[in-house]
Amino acid sequence: MVWSLDTGIWLIFLLLFTMFATGAEFGPSLEGEVVLAEAEADLADTGVAGCADQYLDDGVQLPDLPLFFRRNTPDAEWGTGEMIEVIVSASRHMRWLMPESSPINIGDISRERGGFLSGHLSHRGGVDADVGIYATGAMQDPRGGFQSLGSNFDVVANWALVSALLDTGAVEFILLDRAHITRLRTYTTQAGLLTEAEAEEVFPTDAHSWTLTGYVRHAPSHDNHLHVRVLCSDGSHSGR
Ligand SMILES: [Zn+2]
Repeated sequence: MVWSLDTGIWLIFLLLFTMFATGAEFGPSLEGEVVLAEAEADLADTGVAGCADQYLDDGVQLPDLPLFFRRNTPDAEWGTGEMIEVIVSASRHMRWLMPESSPINIGDISRERGGFLSGHLSHRGGVDADVGIYATGAMQDPRGGFQSLGSNFDVVANWALVSALLDTGAVEFILLDRAHITRLRTYTTQAGLLTEAEAEEVFPTDAHSWTLTGYVRHAPSHDNHLHVRVLCSDGSHSGR
């Protein structure tokens, strides 16, 4: 008993001596909070950079993931972080949901620094990507390009792809030919996947607004691919 009391007193003495000698502080460290504040300041500095419509800052190149997708034009496959995440996430989902489906053919996104990209009006700010659609049997064009599809448009696989893209929550809209949109809308309502009201929100039928509103919009020359536009990193719409 005496021995352990003495030991305890010595230990307390040693602890106090160490505190004074080293100037150590006891209590919660503020280090984490400082790091967080610095990160927030960095974020404020960047603002919505990377979401301008005419150029691309801090672009990310689509990684080479052949199990998920095939890159057609790697030099023109640079996008914002959100754009790349959307493509990787949706194609990974397709691999899980339909393991027999072909890897998705990805066309132009933007050049490394954005700007004019031959053959496109948009695709300048890393927020637009051209994505192949599936023919019957969940097959993408075997040559790696885009295939014009009529009634051999695989409605189940293409709806799975469109919904995987929309489920990311980062897609502003998808452009597609009206005939394919009608096929998707009919399938989703008849199969009970969407109510009429939900279908109207995703694929509006009003001829005056079907190119301007909704998530899946008609555009001419889009019967062989989807044109996917993503939101800015802060959730706002980019310019055109
Ligand atoms: Zn496009």
